[in-house]
Amino acid sequence: MQPDNPRILIVEDEPSIADNIAFALQLDGFSSEHQLLASTALSQLHTQTFELVIIDVGLPDFNGFELCKRIREFSNIPIIFLTARSDEIDRILGLELGADDYVTKPFSPRELSTRVKTVLRRVTPSNVSNHPESAHNTTTANPFQVDHERAAITYCHHKLELTRIEYFLLSKLIEHPERVFSREQLMQAAWDNPEHSLDRAVDTHIKGLRAKLNKVSSTHQPIKTHRGLGYSLELNK
Ligand code: CA
Repeated sequence: MQPDNPRILIVEDEPSIADNIAFALQLDGFSSEHQLLASTALSQLHTQTFELVIIDVGLPDFNGFELCKRIREFSNIPIIFLTARSDEIDRILGLELGADDYVTKPFSPRELSTRVKTVLRRVTPSNVSNHPESAHNTTTANPFQVDHERAAITYCHHKLELTRIEYFLLSKLIEHPERVFSREQLMQAAWDNPEHSLDRAVDTHIKGLRAKLNKVSSTHQPIKTHRGLGYSLELNK
């Protein structure tokens, strides 16, 4: 299910390291682009499609953690960190940055490329959430299918026509069925500037989402409200 020559963005301020990575990726059938600065990488990600980003933590303009946070405001693209220091590893593991993997410097570019393949296999649509092979302990099939590459969600085999925010909200809920997400957490997942959004905005978008799901199947009300807490996705209600 991999598209031909998936594009990888390398954000690394040392050109020789980036060249080695690009070469290893090319051997594995990836194409890549390289940015020396976090800011230029961010603008490229806003305008172009990539399958994965490799980010060096130490960058000259703003660091890789900040870049990761800003990317997560608008994209679920897989991220692999390059890090030189053990305290950076602690941060990667300790914070909920939404990184998919990390590699410590010095590293073998071939090993990094292998990690890229592994991460991409994990996030391809067929492996997202309740994959049949891993769903043996659940009794209900997941009516939702998320295609992260196309930012599309199908529900009961119907493709939902979602706004960008509805897409992010619903994919967040689908990631962890039954888990209650606060409005704050949902805002973080869906808004570019969550601090400027209101809890009420989440309610409005959830209302829109429910209407769309209801049009597909009115027997199910999968999004459940938890008074004073937030929302969750219930697959067997
Ligand atoms: Ca660096």
